[in-house]
Amino acid sequence: MNRDNEKINKIKDYEKIAAGEVIERPANVVKELIENSIDAGAKEIRIIIKKAGKTLIQVIDDGKGIPPDDMELAFERYTSSKINSFDDLEKLSTLGFRGEALASISAVSQIEIISRIKKNERGLQLFIEGGKVLRKKEMSCPIGTNIKVKNLFYNIPARKKFLKKDYTELGHITDIIQRYSLAYPDFQFIYQHNELTILNCPASNDLKTTVFHIYGKNIAKFMEYIDYSEKGELFKIYGLVGQPQISKKDRTKSSFFLNRRYVISDIIFRAIKEAYKGTLMINKHPFFILFLELNPSSIDFNIHPKKLYIKFEREDYVYNRVYTIIRDFVEEKFMKQEPKYLDIELEDFIPKEELVEELSSKTQQSETENLETEKAILKTDAIVETEENIIDESVQLHLSEDIINHKPFKKQIPETFLREKFIKKEDFPKVRLISSTGQLSNKIYIVLEGFNETNEPGLYILDQHAASERINKEKLLESYKSSKTSKQKLISPLKIDVSHSEKFFLSDHLGEIKKLGFDFEHFGGNTFILRELPTIIGKVPDINVIKDIIADITKIGKDKSFSEVKEEIINYLACHKSIRGGDDLSLENIRDLIIELADCKDSYHCAHGRPTLRFLSFKELDKLFKRKV
Ligand code: ADP
Ligand code: MG
Repeated sequence: MNRDNEKINKIKDYEKIAAGEVIERPANVVKELIENSIDAGAKEIRIIIKKAGKTLIQVIDDGKGIPPDDMELAFERYTSSKINSFDDLEKLSTLGFRGEALASISAVSQIEIISRIKKNERGLQLFIEGGKVLRKKEMSCPIGTNIKVKNLFYNIPARKKFLKKDYTELGHITDIIQRYSLAYPDFQFIYQHNELTILNCPASNDLKTTVFHIYGKNIAKFMEYIDYSEKGELFKIYGLVGQPQISKKDRTKSSFFLNRRYVISDIIFRAIKEAYKGTLMINKHPFFILFLELNPSSIDFNIHPKKLYIKFEREDYVYNRVYTIIRDFVEEKFMKQEPKYLDIELEDFIPKEELVEELSSKTQQSETENLETEKAILKTDAIVETEENIIDESVQLHLSEDIINHKPFKKQIPETFLREKFIKKEDFPKVRLISSTGQLSNKIYIVLEGFNETNEPGLYILDQHAASERINKEKLLESYKSSKTSKQKLISPLKIDVSHSEKFFLSDHLGEIKKLGFDFEHFGGNTFILRELPTIIGKVPDINVIKDIIADITKIGKDKSFSEVKEEIINYLACHKSIRGGDDLSLENIRDLIIELADCKDSYHCAHGRPTLRFLSFKELDKLFKRKV
């Protein structure tokens, strides 16, 4: 190759390339436009979206407007009225500062903007396409800015093709708008999609009112105000902190605002989760809407083009402070009463020693979980000491169904009691007899005796969760195919509020979901009514369990057709409601489980392909023990 011929070229279409950093999808445009309106001092921001932002994103504000002479300049790269130089970044109080949003947006869309400042009678209108101003004219209009971003990526077909289905893109847009209405409860946000008003959040100075509008009453009433500030230095934390029972599976449901800018900060999420330690169920994240205010010079907002991630100057310091403040709050507000789920899982009258033994036998649990449970257990105060009582309590351990259903406690010594008490001898491991057919103490496996297909006698080990998962999967598949799901009608139907993406998913697939046994009806807005549940779910679960199911199946299915994800959803449901490892099973339950498993087409694998049953012949046992045979 002849290097002499190579020369440096100005890259054609560099604006389009650069725009990609800031604008990947309609929601990014919405974010930038809302930020500009906020910076312009608007009090009412109206957002009109068509076709999930793919054809139109319009933002109308009543802010200070753009002076006519600056209009064209505003669409050039690196132009901003907010900073002049790098040093200004340090004292920044506005949301925008890179001066590239409008330039980027206009490089990849068709723009129509009208803006008027107070001192002018009329406003100026501009038409811009692919970054070039096509026309401009003066016209009468209210003070403020009205910008239409049309046909996003009309000039980059490849990128357009990568946009997701409408309800996914709309979900992202809704998410952004919700975060900003939370950050600015004193602004009015009106948000419409294809003429339907999705959100109309009136200006109020009360964050709970905004939470009520966005998440509904059942979330708002479980949130507590926090307001912490320190004299002297700037370190303020305020907002709403959710009680443990409204914790979420997905941490991104919570919102964190740093100097009123919505950001994602791993450090903060970790500090807050840690502060909730001992109150949350495994895999749950606390739900909160928190604002942190710090001296802007200790934060670098400029590490990410979309300004979504940030860097703190003193990370450890911020982590520790946030942790301590939230921990104190959690201890004070949420730890004095027992969290609800503990009431169900651990009964007060179980004697301490028994429980500690139970604990140490839960080999499957991680150490931290053990610690958490242990703390919870040690808090149960009704510890009964007498010999007679201990017998009763050990009976209680096997009556978890009754505990959950709050049936009166039956006083009776079961025949298994003698078999299950530990034998304690000095210099000898603590052992106990297990029932000839029953669960091992970790409640994951069931030991059985039997013969294999070649009539060889031996030991069977059944994984109770895997087995029930298989049974449920086949029941669900069968009923899905035949449309004859065995269902249970709810005496009082449940009203459930869902998120936007969940709403789109549910309403698109009501029929298919009904075939699985969930009879949802759209009630209006973001609310659905649940009238029926598949019988495999057993007793009617807590509403939050239903919500989790909706969230999970939406996640599995949202960007695909239902037939593509049907099996995955069925596997998920089969797994969800199955008997878990760790559940107590009566001898009767075990018998039913075995009979149903035997009826399955594939008795030997769970929904995910793990084995359900394993065999060890007595011969193999003999080999293990080096017996001569
Ligand atoms: P930045 O927000 O980082 O300054 P932008 O490209 O988003 O950069 O906007 C460029 C400039 O256009 C802003 O600095 C501001 O002066 C002006 N501007 C943009 N949108 C509005 C609006 N809605 N109202 C008033 N001025 C605006
Ligand atoms: Mg901006």
